[in-house]
This record gives sequence, C-alpha cells and structure tokens, in this order.
Amino acid sequence: MIYLDANATTPVDPAVLEAMLPFWRENPANASASHAAGRKARKAIESAREQMAALIGGEAREIVFTSGATESINAVHASVRHLWPEKRRLITTKTEHAAGLECAERWEHGGGEVRMLGVDRNGLIDLTELREALQSNATGLVSILWANNETGVIQPMREIADMAHEHGALVHADAVQMIGKAPLDAKVDFLSLSGHKFHAPKGIGALFVSQSVRFEPLLIGGGQEGGRRSGTENVPGIVGLGKAAELAMATCSSELRDAFESQLVSEWPEVVIHARHAPRLPTTSSLCFPGLDAAGMLILLDQAGVACSAGSACHTASLHPSHVLEAMGYDARHAASTLRFSFSRMNTMTEVTEAVSKVLRAAHKLRDLL
Ligand code: PLP
Repeated sequence: MIYLDANATTPVDPAVLEAMLPFWRENPANASASHAAGRKARKAIESAREQMAALIGGEAREIVFTSGATESINAVHASVRHLWPEKRRLITTKTEHAAGLECAERWEHGGGEVRMLGVDRNGLIDLTELREALQSNATGLVSILWANNETGVIQPMREIADMAHEHGALVHADAVQMIGKAPLDAKVDFLSLSGHKFHAPKGIGALFVSQSVRFEPLLIGGGQEGGRRSGTENVPGIVGLGKAAELAMATCSSELRDAFESQLVSEWPEVVIHARHAPRLPTTSSLCFPGLDAAGMLILLDQAGVACSAGSACHTASLHPSHVLEAMGYDARHAASTLRFSFSRMNTMTEVTEAVSKVLRAAHKLRDLL
C-alpha cells in the first residue's frame, strides 16, 4: 500500500515503538507508585514532558498529557468558559476541525456568544474581521485551527495572537497538523496536540497551558498531571509521544508534495490545487479533479493500493460536502470532486511517482465512463 493519508493518522515510527516497549514488557508500574518501578515510570514521563516542551518552545511544567487533541480542545473551551463567564464571546472560524466546531456549538448552548470568522478563496481569515470581532473586549477565547487538516492552509497565528492579546482575549491554537511540518512561531496561551499525527500512537496527546494563565481541569479525580488532568497516566503512550516529539524537531520539506503536484498537473492540467499560493503545509495536497467523482476515485485508488481521502472531514466515512471548501467559496460539486493526499517523512519519491501514475489511471478510467 502507498499510504498518502498522513493528515488522518500516521504510522508509528519504529523508534517510538522501541521506546514504548519496555513500559509494556518490563515495567508495568503506575507512575504514582512509590517503589522503584513506579519511580522509573515517573522519570520517563517527566523526560517525555521535557521532550514535548522542547518541541513547542515551552516549559515542561506547561505540558499536560491528555488522550489526544479532542480532549485538549474540549478542556480549553470548558476552562475558559468556566473561569471567565463574563467574557461571553468565543471567536473561531468556519473551517475548524469538528472538535472545535462542536465546542463552539456547546459554548453557544451554554449561553455564550460565538463569532465564526469566514475565510477567503485561499482559506485564510481576514484580520480586519478579527479586529472588528474583538472590539467589545468581551471575548474570552480566540480558538483557531492553525493548519487546516483538509487543505493544509496555515493561518497567520502570530498576528492573530497579538491582536487577541491586545484586546484581553486568550488564544488557543489547534496545532495538530503543524507538528513536524511548520514552525510554531506564535505565542499562544493554549495549544492542542495529537500524537497520532506525528508518528506516535493513537490515544495520546498533549495540551500546552501557558504558566501565566489559570486553568480549570476537565477531568478531576486522582489529581495526576499536577491536578490538571486526572486519570492514571498512559506511561507507554507518553513515552512514545516524547520520542515522537524529539524526532519531529526537524520539520519536513515540501519535496514530495511538490513533485506529486507538478507531475500530476503536467499530465492532467485541469486539476485545481487548493490554496496553491497561500501559506500551507509542505505535506498536504488538496486537489479537485473537475467533473470526476471523488468517491469513485477513492474506490479505484483503494483497489490500486493507494490510501488517500476525500476532501471531506477525516473523522467519518461519510462524503458530506466539505465545510472547509464551502467556506472557501467552492460549491458542493467541486467539493465532491476533491481528494486529499497527505504525506509524511515515511513516504518516498518512488511512492510519489507510482501514486501519480495510479491516480492518472483512475482518473482516465472514470472519465471514460462519463
Ligand atoms: N484537530 C485536527 C486539526 C485534527 O486533524 C484532528 C484529528 O483528526 C483533531 C483535532 C482531533 O485529534 P484526536 O484524534 O487526537 O482527538
């Protein structure tokens, strides 16, 4: 199989697995236990915290391990809403991941007010619209998807954070798709991460909470993670996340994506590359094949051994028109002809060339049926 679906999830790096194995095979201890094995597990967690902090440019005590980004995102929204009820407004975008969109809906159902920023044809928010939304100084949280999982478009987070802070709002960045791909060059208050998007296992993630900000835990109980996230620590998962963070320090290049796109466009010039000239991840290619059915393409590519996804959300098997492409001004027909190819450092140029010829074969086959 040629796996080109890294934005949905990535394969675990063998070095990550290697780091985790001792905590399944040899050391079953609870990290809260006072015996030697427990102390060893605790030490491993704390060194993973250092690795994670080094990757995102924070301090170890600002890292809270969670079950993944969905939990991190939920925790941020709940905390801000609870601690600053008078700051009723949430500002977010129409192109968030489902976790962000659902949290926004909950914010509104809980009596808050939500401003959903639109995006332009390139998937970028308008900073003037953000400034206008911040005017009342009633905003508790600005929560923005830093790099879009469908298109790879990167929002101007530094400008967003500066503007929000000027108006007394806290800033949360969903940085899930950024890790190992683009520099985290903005000062935010909260940052959500997910291990399985950068070669750690599924079910482990982290939340960065700036030490200058108060935080109310979502999960309470045994008081683990300094009282910020209760529940017995997933020691192997945390160790794997730390190792994956260390390996992700070097960001990847756009070599594979660029070769993929240029080879494809030279043979199939009608292909539309979304946000081609906007800041975008070096590893995501969101492509529309006008007139061709993406669902049909997916089936043919699956049969040919290429794993990719439709332009629609990665969390369900359904083929709803993508809310992201819709917000960018594309119609449902365009969205239904869109495929997403996403690369990781585990892909090779040979795979790219082979994938291009399989995509072209599938496209010709579908066109012949029209
Ligand atoms: N945010 C983005 C941008 C994502 O791509 C995902 C994964 O699908 C999530 C959040 C949710 O992450 P997790 O699977 O760790 O809950």
